[in-house]
Amino acid sequence: MATADVSTDVVRALEKELHWYSRAQKANGSSDCGRAQAARESETGFLRASVAACEGALERVENGTYGTCQQCGRRIEKGRLKVLPTTDRCGKCAKRTEQ
Ligand SMILES: [Zn+2]
Repeated sequence: MATADVSTDVVRALEKELHWYSRAQKANGSSDCGRAQAARESETGFLRASVAACEGALERVENGTYGTCQQCGRRIEKGRLKVLPTTDRCGKCAKRTEQ
């Protein structure tokens, strides 16, 4: 089973994060607390991206590809997953695409 080494802690953390972001996204969309429109829009964009990242990670947990780099197919470093649980790229590939 490919998902054997994905701890339930990771899944739980992702689900919690997803729940939080979805709630924040809803609150953000419906509230009109006088904040600048541009700021609200960039926040909504960030929340939407975060929700998508969490969903993507959970999907990879389900199909057994979580922790595998989507670019080079190698294992993503454990330390990196700890800091960035939603990442789908290893440190090397991330560095390469960021440049
Ligand atoms: Zn890679």
